[in-house]
Order: sequence, then C-alpha cells, then structure tokens
Amino acid sequence: IGQRTVTDLRSDFPAFADGAAYGARPDGGTPVAYLDSAATAQRPARVLDAERDYLEQHLAPVHRGASAAVGVSTTLFEDARATVARFVGAGEREIVWAENATDALNIVALGMADASAGLGGPEASRFALESGDEILVTEAEHHANLIPWQRLAARTGARLRAVRVDERGIWSIDALTAELSERTRVVAIAEVSNVTGHLAPVAEVVAAVRERSPRALVVLDACQSVPHLPSDLGALGVDFAAFSGHKMLGPNGIGVLYGRAELLDALPPARTGGSTITRVTIDSAEFLPAPHRFEAGTQPVSQVVALAEAVRYLESIGMAAVAAHERSLAERVAVQLAEVPGVRLIGPPPGSPRAGLVSVAVDGVHAHDVGQFLDDAGVIVRVGHHCAQPLHRALGITATTRASAHVYTTADEMDRFVATLGEVRSFFGVSGADEAAAVIA
Ligand code: PMP
Repeated sequence: IGQRTVTDLRSDFPAFADGAAYGARPDGGTPVAYLDSAATAQRPARVLDAERDYLEQHLAPVHRGASAAVGVSTTLFEDARATVARFVGAGEREIVWAENATDALNIVALGMADASAGLGGPEASRFALESGDEILVTEAEHHANLIPWQRLAARTGARLRAVRVDERGIWSIDALTAELSERTRVVAIAEVSNVTGHLAPVAEVVAAVRERSPRALVVLDACQSVPHLPSDLGALGVDFAAFSGHKMLGPNGIGVLYGRAELLDALPPARTGGSTITRVTIDSAEFLPAPHRFEAGTQPVSQVVALAEAVRYLESIGMAAVAAHERSLAERVAVQLAEVPGVRLIGPPPGSPRAGLVSVAVDGVHAHDVGQFLDDAGVIVRVGHHCAQPLHRALGITATTRASAHVYTTADEMDRFVATLGEVRSFFGVSGADEAAAVIA
C-alpha cells in the first residue's frame, strides 16, 4: 500500500501491537481481525499523540480573549481547518466543524427548516421549502441521510421521494434522473453505500440535477468515501457534503460539513449561541460569516487538531493507494464468496467497481448468529441493518453481515472472514451443500 507493506503500516497503530486488542496474543492464538472499519476506524499513534500533545502543551480556548496561548490554540484550530479543506478540495471557509456526519447533515436540514420558517432574511429564501417542493433521496441511504430530510419534509409540507434500488441494492442514474423535476429542491445521496459498497456516479448526478432541477441542492453523504478515496468536493460540484473524523483514522466527536461558501454564508445557523455572532441585543443577533456562524459554543479543539493529523497520515500514504488497497481486498472477498454455497453477496458483483466493504446474507442463518459465530472465531464484523432499514426492506431481508477494510486490513484477515463464513451454515445445521451460491449479479 503506497510505498509500505501493510505489516509495516500496522506498526503505526497501537491497537495492533503485541498484546493489544488486535495484536499478537500472549497465548500464541490467532489475533482478532478487526473488520468493522466502516463503523469506526482504528487510529495511528501519531493521531493519538497529536490530541494528547495539544491537551498537554497548548490547551486554551479558541477565538476568545487576547492571550498568546489563545492565539496558538486558535492557529492550531484554524490550520487544521485548512488541512482538511485541502484534503477534500475545499476552501477554508467551506469547512464547518460538526459533531459527526449525522450532525453535519442535520445542520443543513435544520437550517433549511429555519429558512422555511422565515428566519435568515432574504438571502436565506433560496433554502425555503414549501408544499409542492420535493426532496429526493435513495432507498439505499443511511438513516443519517434520510431522517433529517423526513423531518424537513414534515416541517415544510415538502414531499420526500426515494429512488428505488434493484435486487442488488443498487440505484441507477437513470432511475434517479427520472425522479428529477423543477419541483426538486434537495437531492441527498451517499457517495458510497455503507451496505453495498456501491460507488454513486456523483458527477453525473450533479449534471442531471443542474439540468433538470435548477433550484435543487445536492447534498453528499461522504462518510464512506472521504476516508477511503481521493476526494475533490469542489471539482465534483456538490453543494454540501458530510463526513466523520472517526471513520478516517481520526477522533470521535468531530465531523465535517462541507458547503459551498456562498451557500454557507446564507444558510441560517440551526444551533445558535456564543462564538457565532457579530452583534447581539436582547431582541436580536447578527451572525458571523461561515464557517463560524455554525460553530456554536466551545469548540472541539483537540479533536480538530487530531483530525488534521489523521489527514496528514492518510496523505502520507496517498488516497489513491488507500483506495486501491481496500478495493482489492473487497474484490478478493467478492470473488471467493461466489464459491461459498448459501452466501449471497449484496451489492456490485465481482469485477464491478466497489469500495472496500462487502455485505452478505447467509441463507437460513440470521445475521446475528453469523456475527456471533464470526466473533467466536475472532473476526469482528458488523451485523444488522447498518442504519439502512429501507434498503434491507427493499432487498427482502432484515439484516446483513458486513466486513469492511481500511489501510491496515490484511488479505489474511479477509480470507478468515470468507473461510469462517463457509462454516456457518453447517454449524447451524442448515442443509443445502448442493445449493449453488446465490450471488446476485
Ligand atoms: N452515512 C453513512 C453512509 C455512514 O456509513 C455513517 C456511519 N455508519 C453515517 C452516515 C453516520 O456517521 P456518524 O455516525 O459518524 O454521524
């Protein structure tokens, strides 16, 4: 991966050290394989160190007071913004700190609700929805990119529509384009599905939206893309995007909202309070320009500083190398699973583009039993609906089992996932050795 071997790279992560959670076991047993990086990723020592170093050496408020310490802390905080901005092809003023991606998406949806209620003045009217307007999502969305839009629709009388997925859990650009009209005001999609690993044709979506729905905003859930693929949000032309620090080798408690500067300057801040204003009277408040108008209250400075370190770490490997490594692991699993009877691969078939995660349904065995069996074998995966119930409903299943990779994931760990999956059905006494693998192509 990049210039380094995965084994060498794993030495950067304390969790893989001898005797640590996912390192060599003192009893000589097989180490536990952590295959749940799509939920949350392990962190390199330099990220943990950066947070600790900030807390030990530089802890002071930001943007408040006149001390030299505040100046240093503020510089670290704003430099981190510049680092993250560069990483995703954004301007510094286009990066807003949020708690996580869910929070970032809520900032947009709630800001639009405020605009719809008349808050934010004339410049916010472009965000105001009314009855007859439409919000478009897909059936594959994570609940974080669905429920905020449900609430916005309920608050404004707008109608929420969803692009249908096919039997693999994938939606097409044609199906999405067919739903677009002059009435469409928001198109909210994930760049990479956290269940199927499908890569959305985002540039095509943006082009179709601009042509057919000139008043629509394109909101990108970049949670499973920014941590794993090269990103250039500015060039992609989306209006807003959201991602989380904890999925990109950074800390918990920090997420990012990207927005085009002119939009962020006009979107009403849904959460208000200190740090967001220029002038306040008892009856009124005027807000700072973006990004600070959205960052109410005391800021998550140590998380921000450590997130910038995670970005530098990813850049030191190179995102193209990260993407190629993870894709090859997922492809390896997809190919091998085609040989495993009774295991159905969700999402793109082998040979098609996919991100570094693979979800399966095992015939006759509930995903929770599959997860328990894998856990007993020392393979940590995610089981359940992965916060995507409508997608599972569309597939006619209640739950799936997902293995997901990051920079430190090895082919051996992925092979253990496949081999253990191959034993699940006989362990639970499900017959059908003669059944062909039901890979949905
Ligand atoms: N969208 C997608 C596609 C995700 O995978 C996740 C995390 N599972 C989220 C949104 C929400 O991220 P967070 O919980 O960090 O806000």
